[in-house]
Amino acid sequence: MMNTLKRIDPRRPFTVTAQGLRRITLGVVGMAGAAGSASLADARHAGHREQPKPRRTTATPHRVLLVAAHADRGALDEHARQTLAAAALIADAQTEVVLLVFGEFTGDAAALGADKLIELPMFDRRTYAPNDELNALAACVAAYAPAHVFLPDNATGDGDLGRRYASVADASVATHVVEIDAGHVSTYIRASTALASRALPEVVLLEPNAVDPKLPFVGAGEQVAWRFDREAEATNAQRAIRDLGIDEIDAAQVALEEADFIVSAGNGVSDVPAFERLATTLGAAIGASRVAVDDGKFTRDKQIGATGKTVEASVYIAFGISGAVQHLQGIKDCRHVIAVNLDASAPIAKRANLTVIADAQETIAALNEAAAAARGARATSAALLQPGKLAEGVLA
Ligand SMILES: Cc1cc2nc3c(=O)[nH]c(=O)nc-3n(C[C@H](O)[C@H](O)[C@H](O)COP(=O)(O)OP(=O)(O)OC[C@H]3O[C@@H](n4cnc5c(N)ncnc54)[C@H](O)[C@@H]3O)c2cc1C
Repeated sequence: MMNTLKRIDPRRPFTVTAQGLRRITLGVVGMAGAAGSASLADARHAGHREQPKPRRTTATPHRVLLVAAHADRGALDEHARQTLAAAALIADAQTEVVLLVFGEFTGDAAALGADKLIELPMFDRRTYAPNDELNALAACVAAYAPAHVFLPDNATGDGDLGRRYASVADASVATHVVEIDAGHVSTYIRASTALASRALPEVVLLEPNAVDPKLPFVGAGEQVAWRFDREAEATNAQRAIRDLGIDEIDAAQVALEEADFIVSAGNGVSDVPAFERLATTLGAAIGASRVAVDDGKFTRDKQIGATGKTVEASVYIAFGISGAVQHLQGIKDCRHVIAVNLDASAPIAKRANLTVIADAQETIAALNEAAAAARGARATSAALLQPGKLAEGVLA
């Protein structure tokens, strides 16, 4: 049960960092409460030093904190990394942080704060196996007896898994957690006008952006060979779920906020039909800067930015977009940003993971040509593989 009601600023003026809760008051950043132990304060001073970062602890562990999350194409998203960081910040010297990843994981578990890594490559976000995942989590809890289990409170598997696990294990749980330290969690109630707190429960489901994932230390990052036999663990009732797979739909039909791949046009794009052709070929959703929308090149619902949509694509290609602060606001959660711009000093280049200094029209035309060539090559090899065509192809 939640208790201790207090009035709060509904704009959530705090974040959990390695330095404790950071509160922002009239432009001043101050400290309020400590999220971690004294060793964290020491590590904080090392935070500005160059690599390598110190190990969080080398003591023999007596306690475990378990973090479970799905990977997406080998990586944990920002929300999952924040959840892992929360556990690492809370852990004391005698506590080890075990990371259980559903899906293949190719990231650096130690850098993210994990002392042990258990990878279950047979599960990923494209597989619908809630019961098998529940069994795997329960088996991991049985093996490690963690004091607390942490999951990101998301709608892509982890939030559901955490709730199901808490229910099946009859464990205490806090959902939508926005504030956390070693002793308590808090969550918003009453239309986000009040904050309710309680002691740290067995299962913690953390909201995004409650924790700063930048850590001043690393974990041990030891990979554990842990076998999980899906079939052996499943009951007959659980096998009743059949995964019918994922239906691929046209990217143009996907809401921009949900699109995983976006190509976006700014004032530097003049050949709009070629740009739209490229989006179709690549299977990407279309976005635009405000200037491109104001010019009538795209409808208002395509605008990305402070007064448009906020997007979270894995890949965002910005053609001829300067990267004004209002536009960058809309792409802050994108994973890989690629900019195509004539001006190497355009602000978008600072945000981009890769900047191509080139003309947008020429780049779009080259990509369209490359895509057509690739499609042609694929069609030829597919035709050659048809029995009737093989002889024809070989004879020719
Ligand atoms: C209150 C407010 C809210 C706003 N909200 C938004 C918003 O939600 N979204 C938004 O996008 N903007 C918004 N803006 C506008 C924002 O400030 C910028 O004016 C806008 O983002 C600029 O769009 P742009 O980068 O396409 O155009 P420009 O600023 O004109 O930049 C064009 C870029 O393309 C490059 N370029 C030119 N020709 C070529 C070429 N041939 N090949 C390659 N590169 C080329 C240039 O080097 C330049 O970097 C807002 C502004 C205000 C004041």
